Amino acid sequence: MKAIPHCSFCARPQGEVGLLFRSSVGAVPPYICDDCVAGYAVVVEADRRSRELAAGLIREWNTAVDNQQSGRTKPSTPHEVQP
Ligand SMILES: [Zn+2]
Repeated sequence: MKAIPHCSFCARPQGEVGLLFRSSVGAVPPYICDDCVAGYAVVVEADRRSRELAAGLIREWNTAVDNQQSGRTKPSTPHEVQP
């Protein structure tokens, strides 16, 4: 009896899924269906966006710190005594 290929992630057999992608590695190559690919793509996209958001916040923070520091290095108070 020949086993029906099924998604290694959700276990749904070929015929219940749209597309079934087969890995090219392993003695018993794993499969992944289009639904699982789409599901993981959403997770990957969300992860990428959260990384970009975090990187943006770090950039903003660094810029704010830089501005604060450069503000301190060139004081221009009215009480400053000019030579
Ligand atoms: Zn699947």
